[in-house]
Amino acid sequence: MIGPGSTVGVLGGGQLGRMFAMAARRLGYRVHTLAPEDDTPTGQIADVEINSPYDDLDAVRRFARAVDVVTFEFENVSIEAAAAAEELTIVRPGRRAREVAQHRLREKSFVASLGLPVVPFAAVRSDEDLSSAVRAIGCPAVLKTAAFGYDGKGQVKIERPEEAPAAWTSIERREAILEAFVDLACEISVIGARGVAGEWSSFGPIENVHRHHILDVSVAPASVGGELAHAAVEAVKRLMDALDYVGILCVEFFVARDGRLLVNELAPRPHNSGHLTFDACRTSQFEQQLRAICGLPLGSAEMLQPAAMANLLGDVWARGEPDWAAALAFGDVKLHLYGKESPRTGRKMGHLTALAPTAAEARRRVLDARDALTGRSR
Ligand code: AMP
Repeated sequence: MIGPGSTVGVLGGGQLGRMFAMAARRLGYRVHTLAPEDDTPTGQIADVEINSPYDDLDAVRRFARAVDVVTFEFENVSIEAAAAAEELTIVRPGRRAREVAQHRLREKSFVASLGLPVVPFAAVRSDEDLSSAVRAIGCPAVLKTAAFGYDGKGQVKIERPEEAPAAWTSIERREAILEAFVDLACEISVIGARGVAGEWSSFGPIENVHRHHILDVSVAPASVGGELAHAAVEAVKRLMDALDYVGILCVEFFVARDGRLLVNELAPRPHNSGHLTFDACRTSQFEQQLRAICGLPLGSAEMLQPAAMANLLGDVWARGEPDWAAALAFGDVKLHLYGKESPRTGRKMGHLTALAPTAAEARRRVLDARDALTGRSR
């Protein structure tokens, strides 16, 4: 066991690391973070902030030597950088899980190999692949880069087969995956936590609504039937057991209008859809991440009340400083800000969480509070 008083290292400097660092600090741990930027959301909370590119292996080694365990808040740290840390300390989750989650083709193939349902897909590495993928998958379809995609970056929708070559050019003819475009009833996520002895716990399903490919609002419990919710939770357990996973894994699912549950993608870390666990659950996804990677018993994931979370993107600043007092006047709504300076369009700056007797009321409440920030009323 890596007990309180030990030092945990986080690769990445964003809000996920910030909330992880808050949880770790509360339990008496010291926190170090390494990221390519300075004064990061994580660094503002951590004891030690190292400002270095992830591929500076000497800096990664210095960082790893000073900590008892390393985890991630950002999965696109190269395998080489993580391997440099692995030579010197414990790194959780392990390499296999990260390799799978970093690459959409490996990810979908792995999920399918366990017999779990995924969106129909095909690999695109050449012009011949592209034509045969379009023939096999049909249209509409979505072409996505296989590596380093997030929040809809590196994705193009294809309505007709003749659009495929231009779509591939627009993502620089990089290795890609062509997916069938699913007619969605809704999107849900389940966040699993797995400890060193295989003990397991989960949050969700949580229902997620995206705007412009970025998560906008999450609500829990999701409005899906018990059977589907059970299947989603079981799928996450299967995936984590198969990867001998230690830490937090978020699995995003599509629920198709025809009722099918399909795995969309895996995130080997806490997830934006789990931010509501910070206020709504006995143990948050961040504390659970700490407990899992340190070999502590997992905490109760019980939800205290239905909850909703609304993201605050830089767009909220479009007409000047948001009206904080108006949102804080919703005395039951929690405001989280990540300490970022420039509120660029689409940049995740913070979020609001509301709890209520029903998920629908929590959703209404959190949206009303968000509208109050910009002086809009609904
Ligand atoms: P992703 O980065 O793969 O999670 O995609 C971001 C968002 O785009 C998803 O949450 C969906 O809202 C939408 N999307 C991505 N792929 C598909 C698909 N194959 N069918 C329908 N919608 C999709």
